[in-house]
Amino acid sequence: MTKEPYLILAGGVGAAKLIEGLAYATNPKNLKIIINTGDDIELFGLQICPDLDIITYTLANLVDKKKGWGFKDDTFNCLSILKKYYNFNWFNAGDKDLATHIYRTDLFKKGLKKSEITKQICQKLGIKSELIPMCDEPFETLIKTPQGIMHFEEFYIKNQCKAEIIDVIFKGKNTAKPVDGILKHILNANKIIICPSNPIVSIGTILSLPRIRETLEKVKEKVMAISPIIKGKTVKGPADKLMKWKGLEVSCFGVAQYYKDIIKHYIIDIRDCKYKPIIEKKLDIITYCHDTLMTDLEKKIDLAKFLLSL
Ligand code: GDP
Repeated sequence: MTKEPYLILAGGVGAAKLIEGLAYATNPKNLKIIINTGDDIELFGLQICPDLDIITYTLANLVDKKKGWGFKDDTFNCLSILKKYYNFNWFNAGDKDLATHIYRTDLFKKGLKKSEITKQICQKLGIKSELIPMCDEPFETLIKTPQGIMHFEEFYIKNQCKAEIIDVIFKGKNTAKPVDGILKHILNANKIIICPSNPIVSIGTILSLPRIRETLEKVKEKVMAISPIIKGKTVKGPADKLMKWKGLEVSCFGVAQYYKDIIKHYIIDIRDCKYKPIIEKKLDIITYCHDTLMTDLEKKIDLAKFLLSL
């Protein structure tokens, strides 16, 4: 059987930085990317898929790199009126971004699946990599807090991750299944790369789907992950808070513990090299130290080339 090239498991902003580097380091056609849909939300009657959109705009070279999401040079005229109509002020979507949500919602209404719509959007924007939402069925990450249950986006943006986390609920987990072909891609991939993404709510959602974890376990020799935690801190977002809730140490070691059954190779940041011996000894994962803080394009490409060389 011919091996497929690289399979990537991805969340949003952290993943997009690495994927941009990978798209320079190899032919973008070599990349198949499975993307978290737990952050997907319906607002203003529109279907919004934050992680899918961040990766899409990044690969189309249209993303606002400063913010890490949305289109570059976007305006917010439509949103200013929507906010008045809906008396609503916590979610941001630019005019061009809203065009994606309108198009996606229109195709949903015509009966297309999320994976089919994603293909169409990628084709229209000239993307050569294959983007695959993790599932076609509804799936929502909800955060239970003392103030009530919130959608993950509401917890992240409106609440600014301030509320105490009582529980994390993957609504739809029992009816969702991996999009057709994902399990086969896992078996056939030459290398599998788990991006530096939130382990619990970006990668954890993908791993919660039927047979994904078991299939990765079977091929763990070719699976590598990059730690999203550097010196005990997240670069961005609430991964630290969610890891604490899960009972994990907030460090690259804690992330490795979470992935230990599905990875054989692990890249930690050079600032965390002291963890290499303990991860290798206790968890039996081959660990590499590299600069993983992707502050510019050069660093993204450097990390991508390093991964592809392993
Ligand atoms: P989100 O859905 O937008 O939060 O995006 P992800 O799940 O992809 O990413 C969030 C995680 O990416 C956080 O835990 C960050 O610490 C991590 N991250 C972001 N940028 C970088 C980076 O340059 N290097 C590393 N190692 N991790 C990063």
